[in-house]
Amino acid sequence: MTSGHIEVRGARVHNLKDIDLDIPRHELIVICGVSGSGKTSLALDTLYAEGQRRYIETFSLQARQFLERLDKPEADRIDGIPPAIAVKQHTASRSNRVTIGATTEAIDYLRLLYAKIADLICPTCGLRIEKHSPQSAAEQIAALPLGTRVMICFEPQQGASNPLTQFQSSGFVRVIADGQVLNIADAANGSFIDLHVVVDRLIIGQQDLIRLRDSIETAFRHGEGRAIAFADVSVAAGAPGSAVQTSIDGKNWPRLEFSTRLECPNCHRLFADPDPRRFSFNSPLGACPTCEGFGTISDIDLKKIVPDTTKTIRSGAIAPWNTPKHRHELDELLALADDYLIPVDVPFNELTEEQLRLIREGVPERKFGGLTGFFRWLDRHKYKLHYRVFANRWRSSRTCPTCHGTRLNEEALAWKIAGLSIAALTGLTIDRTLAVFNSLDLSVQRRSIAQNIFDQLNQRLHFLIEVGLGYLSLDRPLRTLSSGEAHRVMLTSVLGSSLVNMLYILDEPSAGLHSKDVSRLVQSIRRLSSRRNTVIAVEHEEDLIRAADRLIEFGPAAGDSGGQITFQGPLDQMLKPSASLTGEFLAGRRGISIPEKRRPTNHGWIKLMGARGHNLKNVTVEFPLNTLCVVSGVSGAGKSSLVQETLYGAICSRKSRDCEPPPLPFDEIVGCGQIDDCILVDQTPIGRSSRVNPATYIKAFDPIRQVFADTVEARTHNYTAGHFSFNVEAGRCSACQGEGFLTIDMQFMADVQKKCGQCGGARYRKEVLAIKYRGKSIADVLAMTGREAFSFFRGQPKVQARLKQLIDVGLDYLQLGQSASTLSSGEAQRLKLAAHLSAATKSRTLFLLDEPTTGLHFADVVTLLDCFEALLSVGHSLIIVEHNLQLMRSADYIIDLGPEAGDDGGQVVACGIPEELARSTASHTGRYLSQSLINAFAAS
Ligand code: ADP
Ligand code: ADP
Ligand code: ZN
Ligand code: ZN
Repeated sequence: MTSGHIEVRGARVHNLKDIDLDIPRHELIVICGVSGSGKTSLALDTLYAEGQRRYIETFSLQARQFLERLDKPEADRIDGIPPAIAVKQHTASRSNRVTIGATTEAIDYLRLLYAKIADLICPTCGLRIEKHSPQSAAEQIAALPLGTRVMICFEPQQGASNPLTQFQSSGFVRVIADGQVLNIADAANGSFIDLHVVVDRLIIGQQDLIRLRDSIETAFRHGEGRAIAFADVSVAAGAPGSAVQTSIDGKNWPRLEFSTRLECPNCHRLFADPDPRRFSFNSPLGACPTCEGFGTISDIDLKKIVPDTTKTIRSGAIAPWNTPKHRHELDELLALADDYLIPVDVPFNELTEEQLRLIREGVPERKFGGLTGFFRWLDRHKYKLHYRVFANRWRSSRTCPTCHGTRLNEEALAWKIAGLSIAALTGLTIDRTLAVFNSLDLSVQRRSIAQNIFDQLNQRLHFLIEVGLGYLSLDRPLRTLSSGEAHRVMLTSVLGSSLVNMLYILDEPSAGLHSKDVSRLVQSIRRLSSRRNTVIAVEHEEDLIRAADRLIEFGPAAGDSGGQITFQGPLDQMLKPSASLTGEFLAGRRGISIPEKRRPTNHGWIKLMGARGHNLKNVTVEFPLNTLCVVSGVSGAGKSSLVQETLYGAICSRKSRDCEPPPLPFDEIVGCGQIDDCILVDQTPIGRSSRVNPATYIKAFDPIRQVFADTVEARTHNYTAGHFSFNVEAGRCSACQGEGFLTIDMQFMADVQKKCGQCGGARYRKEVLAIKYRGKSIADVLAMTGREAFSFFRGQPKVQARLKQLIDVGLDYLQLGQSASTLSSGEAQRLKLAAHLSAATKSRTLFLLDEPTTGLHFADVVTLLDCFEALLSVGHSLIIVEHNLQLMRSADYIIDLGPEAGDDGGQVVACGIPEELARSTASHTGRYLSQSLINAFAAS
């Protein structure tokens, strides 16, 4: 097929309005438009879904039988679609075992590399261990200075009866016995502690390599794979074996030892041959035996078991034994306390070490297992969920003491490249890892063995650096990354592929990236399309929009008022007056004007002192209250470490609230009295469950169900609010249990979902759907957008009050019943904000937000700022981690972290109002902000 286009006719997925579209192949296409306008519906739910379906068609018949069950995207036809690959937001794994290295396959190549070229250093002696062949040993000996006298020997096996006579008959002439060279016949009757049989004596430079090699081979054969060479020179550093001196006939001879096995020449510890699996914590060959490769172990934690040490044992100091079920343990302890002198009526913190030991370890002769025995018993029953949960309440995890968190066993860690174990290497930043490889001093031979592996590794490390992640380490679990970072890690696997004629669909690749790093990302995405691939990016970032061959804008608004193509064409046309909404913003004809007046920072401050978590360099930061305060800085500068991981926990601890995990280390926090509450609105997905949706999340669904239960019809059937819940047996469809769809196990591929045949996706029983309020069923209501529902429920203040929150955060276009798992991270975050709005009406609340503009079009940012304005006007405070220049221009105060990422960041570079920050020469953000302010000024 020569057609250069992907042809879409009559696409109607979600809100798409019968769209016709021709997309030229092998170009970079950026889809833009306000949030909820239909970008994802086209890119992922139409194009990608169809590409994937076509791809499955090429599979076996057996695979295809599932295909028929895959819903076709709703469209008249879609032609010319290449095999598709999508990089979606937050598809990252939650497991600790999935690291950056694993996702990019860099770790697989590193394991190969270690198996091929690493040096083995004995963990006990620190000596380098080599495995020798007669040839390699001969080469090393031949390299000694010319004229050196050498004796090649072996040590006879222990226990052989009268060995010397036997060696004599094999033709050996001399032995070295306890430091003396003797004729073997003379030594035959003696008994010696230290005995070597001499195979050959030679002088370097006088005999050829073949003789040397043969002699060593003989020594290996008789010495069980071990040969010893005594040389009469002082051995240069780096020579094999321990340069142990042995006195022979009154003279000191350095002793060199060679082995055909991996054996320490000093302590004779044996090592297994290297194998990539030995460098993997997922393999029993490589995993630390103590923690089984987790890097942490969980112990019973006395602090949790005895939360209040001023209590006495009798009054229930030991919390797990206060439950009726386990009370008998306490009774046993009380019964034997007298005999073992354990005071049960004094505060727990007055017990002696010895008394505590008895409580911990028990008294076997009285069949009392103590805490240890008790938890062992619980462990044996951990197949029962409630025992497992119960047991975990009293434990806490700590770094594994054996492997110190490296997850590998001692032997795996003994192999080094450039002096670094594989764990140490993967713990370096990716920038440094690459530097280590570049400065590696390898023999030509070794380099050629590993050339292919190096190429693969270099390529992967380069891609990670290109997408702006050089400050991370390969061993970082994806779980601990921000969603933008994780997404860009996934992106590298695509950038590295050499496939051509593919369709790549990228969902907001620039999320979380500082303006400074966007241009490199743009280049690598361009390269992908220049390799004869079609690349479609859903994106709001100005640089990427400007780099596109063609732009497609969706609109005009969100949800039902969107789903149309409002512009398509190249950039220069987009920029023409009135051509497109995006173009208006790009050309500066629309925008957020710079606020005339910024809110003053005289409403008090919260001061955080001595923050030192992750890369933070013992910083003291003051955050103004009742303002829009932005924390900026390049990706990896330490923004989340400061705001989410330190400040939030620090405030919680001040407010005596639990915070999991606890805050990173800091010295002191002051000023918390000026706020009543602190709410962290991060980007973690709201839930994987399809049972969570905007209506349930903002608690609008309860009053809505009540409205239905109050109808006359419902009352005549005795239906309660419960009947209108898709979580309750009574009213939900029994085939799909209220999910609305069935999940089909595709066995070898990701599961697919198919609309439930019985309820047609409505989720409810027919009888329940027959109940109407103002002509609509409960399922009809779930299909309404927030805005539609708001006007529909006029006269129902309880429902409207809740829905108002959705409108306030600009999510009025979401369908009430849309599953939370289909929301973008930006939408999820604004939904969380909506849910908190009502709770925060009375108290002075500090909101901490993480990149709330993710997924937002310029026009959406305007709505978001209005929402912030509303919060500030009633006395709340906002601290926002953000890269978006448009939002930064509107800030009252900016705290810029950096100057760079990782170890080169973690400091406060500059702070002040945007104009002040723009003047800072030290700050990357300042530079970009200054340009942005000039542009905005010029446009206004
Ligand atoms: P964008 O990507 O432009 O933000 P989307 O394509 O995600 O917009 O959404 C367009 C419209 O389709 C919105 O009204 C949204 O609520 C709706 N929508 C998106 N995904 C689903 C879904 N899985 N089920 C039902 N409606 C959806
Ligand atoms: P930002 O939010 O500015 O992008 P972060 O605070 O996430 O930056 O990261 C700052 C530094 O701390 C980076 O070098 C990062 O690798 C490191 N870091 C962040 N989280 C962790 C973690 N859970 N474990 C180890 N290092 C971390
Ligand atoms: Zn361990
Ligand atoms: Zn059903």
